[in-house]
Amino acid sequence: MSKGRITHHTSRITVSRPNIRSLCAYEAKEIPCKVKLDANESPYGFEEALKALNKIQTNRYPDPEAKELKKVIAKDFGVRHENILQGNGSDELIYYLITTFGGPVLYPIPTFSMYGIITQAIGEKKIEIQLDREFDLDIKEILMAIKKEKPRLIFLSSPNNPTGNCFSSERILKIIETTSSLRIVVVDEAYQPFASEKGFLSLLEDFKNLMIMRTLSKIGLAALRVGFLIGHEDVIREVNKVRLPFNVNALSQAAAITALKDKKRMRSYIKAIVSERERLFAGMGEIKGITPYPSEANFILFKVSNPDRIYKGLLKKGILVRNMKGVVDGCLRVTVGMPEENTTFLKTLRQLSESNE
Ligand code: PMP
Repeated sequence: MSKGRITHHTSRITVSRPNIRSLCAYEAKEIPCKVKLDANESPYGFEEALKALNKIQTNRYPDPEAKELKKVIAKDFGVRHENILQGNGSDELIYYLITTFGGPVLYPIPTFSMYGIITQAIGEKKIEIQLDREFDLDIKEILMAIKKEKPRLIFLSSPNNPTGNCFSSERILKIIETTSSLRIVVVDEAYQPFASEKGFLSLLEDFKNLMIMRTLSKIGLAALRVGFLIGHEDVIREVNKVRLPFNVNALSQAAAITALKDKKRMRSYIKAIVSERERLFAGMGEIKGITPYPSEANFILFKVSNPDRIYKGLLKKGILVRNMKGVVDGCLRVTVGMPEENTTFLKTLRQLSESNE
């Protein structure tokens, strides 16, 4: 073995379970760039929230129940703390949900890749239903699959990543109504703060099988890894059984509490992102060869005639977007950045598209 590196294990690992061997890890590559518009983060941070960290005793475990954080969330969402489960990002909550309820797990595609990755990691069956031409739920296919496959869990990301649209509320409601209390429907509202539609929080009282998933990652706190589930207390209690004891660290709890209390700043950042999204959408629509899809989130999916060339061309100028090859072929996805970043992106996209002629 050479110094500091394990070099002798070059053959494929065969001791892992077959479902893990065939699994592809979630790719979160760090690509150097000047303008980072690839990961649906907020361009605005809450660095002031870090001031709250100097009171933390590093030798003590964090509050395992995240009581203070849940109190703030409960107040914001008009629920009780028993209705909330905290996660190390919502990714961790997806793990907990599938661990708790098992599969089959149904979700539309294209959508957030972690539903499929975690289902496979846990060794459960995936039921993937293609979205319709408008990127809405194919309700006929979904209802048929529910009847036939009896999924125990359904994930609906609305607004959906990477398409950006909200699914029709009637279709979501139909799915919630049709599934018995044994089937859990998780509406993943990661991008709800940017949407013009209401979301599903108000339906929680009527449907015990409905859970809402939220994250702080899209509203300026991705570094903290804080997500939460809101649902009926009986269901929350069940999922809490699989939660690791100190899953949200003390630094994240403290910083999240401070940031969430700063409502004025939070609202102004969200407002700025929504207004920039509309400017980006209009600007992109004017560029020949570019078709942006309407978005209710903090990113825009767009079709281009030569996505690889445009992706590389943008990167050459220091602008990083997401290439959706293999997910929505022919498309790239751009996250809304700071106004000046969006302007640079629009200008470069126009230049690249025109030189494509
Ligand atoms: N749900 C959706 C729809 C997402 O797009 C993402 C992040 N890309 C997540 C959940 C995960 O967010 P978190 O950072 O809270 O794990």
